Parts: sequence; C-alpha cells; structure tokens
Amino acid sequence: MKKIGEIIQDADWKTEKHVPVIECKDTVKKDEFFEVTASVGKEVAHPNTTAHHISWITLYFLPDGEKFPYQIGKFEFNSHGASAQGPDTSTVYTNHKVMAWMKTSKSGVIYAVSLCNIHGLWEYSKQIKVE
Ligand code: FE
Repeated sequence: MKKIGEIIQDADWKTEKHVPVIECKDTVKKDEFFEVTASVGKEVAHPNTTAHHISWITLYFLPDGEKFPYQIGKFEFNSHGASAQGPDTSTVYTNHKVMAWMKTSKSGVIYAVSLCNIHGLWEYSKQIKVE
C-alpha cells in the first residue's frame, strides 16, 4: 500500500501545468509579514472547466529544525462553469491563483500541495531565509 507522499506528484513547473508554484521573497525580515502567492499553470496554462479544473491549493510552512509543518492556508476553487443548465453553461470561473500573508522568526520551507480533479495531487516547495 502506498503512503500519501508517494502519490503526490512532482515535476518542473516550466513544463508541467499542474505544479503549484510558490512565489515570494527568498529572504524575509524576522517577524514581518510577507506576501506568498501560489498558482497552478504559471508557464503552461491548466484547463478550468467543469470537467477538468484545480480544486484547491494548500500551503504549509516547516520551520528549520522542527518536526511538524504549520498550515498557512487552504484555498478552494469552487466555480468552474457549472450552472442549473449544466456543465460550462455559466460564465463564472474561479482562477487557481491565491495570495497569503505570513510571518515567521525562523527560516524554513514553504510547501504547496494542489489537487487537479482528474490528475491528482501535486507539490512544490520553496526555501525562505529569515534575516
Ligand atoms: Fe489536470
């Protein structure tokens, strides 16, 4: 039986449209809020239709030397064109890009995990340094 970590996929975001890319400063100031964005399909667009879309992105932070990650936020994308008339009949779509604010006194790693409703779980991570 596979562990959950073994079914979370990983690839180069420049060629793979499912990777939840994290963008923020490489170095941040201790205990000062900074902006973190996470988006799927930064280089290669991912579809956003009723049948095929990104359902959510979750961000975690693991401070250096600690065992357990902290969940920064979970962002759900709930509108993908469906209406009472059927799939892709509305003009309302949530885009799979979010921004969060966080602060920390320790350097560490930000992790993003995302779910495509038909292509599964994807991950990305970015080291940040506190000065
Ligand atoms: Fe997909």
